[in-house]
Amino acid sequence: MAGLVPKVLLIEDEPSQRALLAYNLQAEGFEVVEAGDGEEGLLLVEEEAPDLILLDWMLPGLSGIEVCRRLKTRTETRALPVIMLSARSEEVDRVRGLETGADDYMVKPYSLAELMARARAHLRRSRPVTVGERLEWQDIVLDAETHRVTRGEAMLKLGPTEFRLLTTFMERPGRVWSREQLLDRVWGRDIYVDTRTVDVHVGRLRKALTVHGHEDPIRTVRGAGYALG
Ligand code: CA
Repeated sequence: MAGLVPKVLLIEDEPSQRALLAYNLQAEGFEVVEAGDGEEGLLLVEEEAPDLILLDWMLPGLSGIEVCRRLKTRTETRALPVIMLSARSEEVDRVRGLETGADDYMVKPYSLAELMARARAHLRRSRPVTVGERLEWQDIVLDAETHRVTRGEAMLKLGPTEFRLLTTFMERPGRVWSREQLLDRVWGRDIYVDTRTVDVHVGRLRKALTVHGHEDPIRTVRGAGYALG
């Protein structure tokens, strides 16, 4: 199933640092996408829909702070956890880093073990599903093992595509997914599917979720995509 290996975007300009981090992240079982500067990083956020970002503070061109600020002011990426990595250690910088909306902050030289532990913790918080687990959001319960979905007392009938769509939404409540990102996650990027197909299946999912008179939990975000809640 698409989307079960957490994807980490690493934005770091120093090749040796980047290689070391990428190696350790892969060893932890993460999929890693790498960017050497802020512009490339922001582009990859859209293209790759990562689950977590490790962001170096000192980057050529757009600074890490600016990258973080942009991510946190956009609805589509606001919920995406960002760990800032910095050589600066003054308390004032730390505060500034957190004020831009970074979810965490580590000062170089940091312990790799601690960084990995924090990365896992942020992913657990923002992306709680693993194979065989149950996802719950308000009165909707999705069982990833038995492929059963209930809402309140009612058992819902979902097709396989609607099930994967709902899994994606429930992994990250509140996150806005573009049609292209949903295509990647739900259909896989090797398959050619028109983005309108996404609308059709979101429509079916909505129908299934509201069949017993419940409120529609899926939000259409104009010009951006869809979100749960
Ligand atoms: Ca740097």
